[in-house]
Amino acid sequence: MTIKKGDQIRVIAGREKGKQGTVERVIRDNGRVVVNGINVRKHHLKPSRSKPQGGIIEVPAAFSRANVMIICPHCSRPTRVSHTVAESGDKFRSCSHCHDSLEVK
Ligand SMILES: [Zn+2]
Repeated sequence: MTIKKGDQIRVIAGREKGKQGTVERVIRDNGRVVVNGINVRKHHLKPSRSKPQGGIIEVPAAFSRANVMIICPHCSRPTRVSHTVAESGDKFRSCSHCHDSLEVK
């Protein structure tokens, strides 16, 4: 999995194609991601003490990592992810267009 929490992504396939957002959660087991504002589902809540009327809330649901590409923070294009080893020996993910680091500081 080359996507991490906090990455900017664009959806490149499926129902939400073209949307952009920030990764909230990565589920490694099944290769899925949760992105704020994308693939939003309605949850129906029973009445509870904090919400005596119950209600309907919208929450983002997980969808496949294969449908997203990382947006490079340097050239702001959607990119595949390269892996680069710096001279210091550190490994980092890099943009395949401009070869700059994708890690968000
Ligand atoms: Zn780039």
